[in-house]
Amino acid sequence: MKIIIMGPQGSGKTTQADLLSKKLNLPHISTGNIYRAVAKEDSEIGRKVKNYMDSGDLVDDETTFQIVDRHLGEIKSDFVIDGFPRTLIQAKRGIFPVGKVFYLQISDQQAIERLLLRKRLDDTPEVIAERLKIYHQDTEPILEYYRKQGKLIEIDGSGTVEEVYNLILQKLND
Ligand code: AMP
Repeated sequence: MKIIIMGPQGSGKTTQADLLSKKLNLPHISTGNIYRAVAKEDSEIGRKVKNYMDSGDLVDDETTFQIVDRHLGEIKSDFVIDGFPRTLIQAKRGIFPVGKVFYLQISDQQAIERLLLRKRLDDTPEVIAERLKIYHQDTEPILEYYRKQGKLIEIDGSGTVEEVYNLILQKLND
């Protein structure tokens, strides 16, 4: 089964996807991690992606489809993915059959606090605010899309890494 971990920045989606993939012995794909690596490349696409990320914007859907296709093309098994889909267009493209979608819920306030603590280079206060705005506007509509399909599992993401992970495991075999 292919599993998506969703949530706003700071919800711990990459950490949880990593833990879950190890537990299930499946590959983990994180488009955020992929894009952070691409942004370091001295190439046209590297510069384009860096510009989007520096301003807190999403990378355009066409670039994202190319990147995701390339990475998923190498994987013949199931997998755990976080960071994709990020827009309704990405979700509706149906690049792979979706089994379960875990949605890690945290408040904006908590997202901001966690991101400021994490101090990644793309985590300045202005960029954080912009990313949260885009999250509500572009990414949240996906939740309804998966809820209607009966695939959405809402998880309280406000606890520790271990607490959130245990909540996910409890719901995994439902
Ligand atoms: P993340 O670590 O998941 O918060 O991703 C960091 C940044 O990578 C985002 O702010 C976007 O600029 C870019 N990104 C990651 N995944 C996607 C995606 N599926 N679509 C568009 N942009 C993405």
